Amino acid sequence: MVLFERAPAKINLSLDVLGKRDDGYHEVEMIMTAVDLADRVELYSVYGDMIEVSADNQYVPNDERNLAYKAALAFKNKYQINYGVRIEIEKNIPVSAGLGGGSSDAAAVLRGLNRMWSVGASLEELAELGAGIGSDVPFCIYSTTALGTGHGEKIRELAAPPPCFVILAKPNIGISTRSIFQKINIEEIMHPDTNEIIRALEEKNFSNLCANIGNALETVTFSLCPNVQHIKERMVQAGASGVLMSGSGPTVAGLVEHYSKAKRIYNGLRGFCDEVYIVQLLDRR
Ligand code: ATP
Repeated sequence: MVLFERAPAKINLSLDVLGKRDDGYHEVEMIMTAVDLADRVELYSVYGDMIEVSADNQYVPNDERNLAYKAALAFKNKYQINYGVRIEIEKNIPVSAGLGGGSSDAAAVLRGLNRMWSVGASLEELAELGAGIGSDVPFCIYSTTALGTGHGEKIRELAAPPPCFVILAKPNIGISTRSIFQKINIEEIMHPDTNEIIRALEEKNFSNLCANIGNALETVTFSLCPNVQHIKERMVQAGASGVLMSGSGPTVAGLVEHYSKAKRIYNGLRGFCDEVYIVQLLDRR
């Protein structure tokens, strides 16, 4: 038996860091939404009790370090399944980019195995299981638009953003989320107004949304990788209505209402930037 799942990337519309907890995690408040740039996850039912994973990307491990492998193991343990599975991942989402690719692959495996082995777990149950694999996995179970609190794993669905195009630009570097969080100085970072963004979403007000999106981690990433800041500045100068870094970077996301403008900005960034995409939001509610 073979089964396919789409694993969409996410972008942040906000990321705020509220403080550091005793358990070492940072308390965050972030708004995320899924976009139509996606990995393709194939699940094959195999004889035996093994989990095998392979991804067509040199930066992604093909062993138990892969988040998709961890998801399959967690699922098998939780629901006491003795079957084997081979996971093949076609990576279309850039790796270590702030776009949640690994988390989305893990979420796709949880959703897919739930179907393949007819377990009947609810999305809430899968999200709870996913929280043990990575903070962004619960969001990726739903892949709509949501507020993530705690260390990102507590999910509350929000109104869908107004339709728009998003330019994603990624320089040729990967960033480790952990290294960025380690360097945060809470006194020095900016704090986006999360409530104002939620209001803009509820009112489907594109200009208020763009005026308020923001990412507290930009200060840290920009100081380590000035190129990311240059990309942001270029997007602003080129006329994107709202621009912010996604996750801990290095991908920068620019929001525009019309495709013609997205294409102009895209053309201006190619050559300057390693990877550039025009994507749309998946959440069309
Ligand atoms: P995060 O903010 O959670 O770090 P990200 O989008 O910045 O997410 P990912 O592309 O998810 O980064 O990769 C982060 C790390 O996880 C990389 O070091 C990568 O090798 C490892 N990894 C493990 N499994 C996967 C996977 N299935 N896809 C991508 N990366 C994976």
